Amino acid sequence: HNHIDHATPEKVQAAIAADDTHAHVPDYEAFDGYVEAGGYAALKSLRASGDWEQVQEQVLASGLRGLGGAGFPSGKKWGFVRANDGPRYLAVNGDEGEPGTFKDRYYLERTPHLFLEGMLIAAWAVEAQTCFIYMRDEYPAVLEILRREVAALEAAGIVAPGYIDLRRGAGAYICGEESAMIESIEGKRGMPRHRPPFVAQVGVFGQPTLVHNVETLHWVAKICREGPECLNSTEKNGRKGLRSYSVSGRVAAPGVYLLPAGSTILDVIGAAGGMADGHTFKAYQPGGPSSGLLPASMDDIPLDFDTLQPHGTFIGSAAVVVLSDQDTARDAALNMLRFFEDESCGQCTPCRAGCEKAVKLMQAESWDTDLLNDLCDVMADASICGLGQAAPNPIRLVMKHFADEI
Ligand code: SF4
Repeated sequence: HNHIDHATPEKVQAAIAADDTHAHVPDYEAFDGYVEAGGYAALKSLRASGDWEQVQEQVLASGLRGLGGAGFPSGKKWGFVRANDGPRYLAVNGDEGEPGTFKDRYYLERTPHLFLEGMLIAAWAVEAQTCFIYMRDEYPAVLEILRREVAALEAAGIVAPGYIDLRRGAGAYICGEESAMIESIEGKRGMPRHRPPFVAQVGVFGQPTLVHNVETLHWVAKICREGPECLNSTEKNGRKGLRSYSVSGRVAAPGVYLLPAGSTILDVIGAAGGMADGHTFKAYQPGGPSSGLLPASMDDIPLDFDTLQPHGTFIGSAAVVVLSDQDTARDAALNMLRFFEDESCGQCTPCRAGCEKAVKLMQAESWDTDLLNDLCDVMADASICGLGQAAPNPIRLVMKHFADEI
């Protein structure tokens, strides 16, 4: 295969210098268009005479919760961070490494300034000294858009040069965990920290840090422009708000769909054009591999925060993957555990050794369910961070709902 043109550091540098990084930058709303449509008016008026607690009330009234997966009420974090003396920082989690999740990319490639304005409003609310944007390096177009648009903000005098510090991730899933992301921003190997102290108290470089997901900040800007009603006026199946579902798998039209938070899997499949030709709905991943799999028979649960807990799973970042009669749940679960085995940071034994053992046990023709149950308990109880704690979910749910396959 000596015809392959291997990339060397020199060639990569030359490509970057020649702006030939093969990033296909789509059409998006750039700075001028955003300002013409009323953009940055909210930020300017808040900076001139705003009361951060009023904005916090609006954000709380909207029901906005962290959209990176954890679902913590967004406005509450601001008070926690402000309760600590400065200097304070803001760190944006744009790592979006959860398999099946691509909603942050979707918004950043269309309306990057909604995100940037939301970020600057949150930074104003906690008096952040610097905004770090930790962005997934596998999104070259997004990085290019952000470079251009941050430069436009600096040129317009909306931020001082260097106030927004754009950092590139290096492909480690664990760096989407907020404390591992902070380690990575500090230039260290990305490994989750023990808590307490929480990052709101001791974050980037030991300082109080507000961490938000990209989409969360997109909604902060919308709430400041349109009021909390842009989220809380939608109600379905007893749930309020909207969710951006990243939908993939055996559907006719994979993509990001903004739907009521009370949507069921049937609503989500319907929005994605129904099942792909020749496929019959069999199972679904409701929110990333950590959420495991549910059978098609459980098709009436609203896919929202809190509603999935009684079923041993959660919505996470709303990465829905649809499986059909041509897939097996056991193969899907094995794939998920292989992913966790690869991506475990290796810091703690229950996760490092547990993921590896689980993969081996799941490759057996018939699963040793007693041993797997034991292993799942140890991993869930004794792992340091969410990766190891939630990795047993696919195993447990397959044992519960797809016993005939194992
Ligand atoms: Fe690292 Fe896994 Fe432990 Fe998390 S649970 S700290 S990923 S080894």
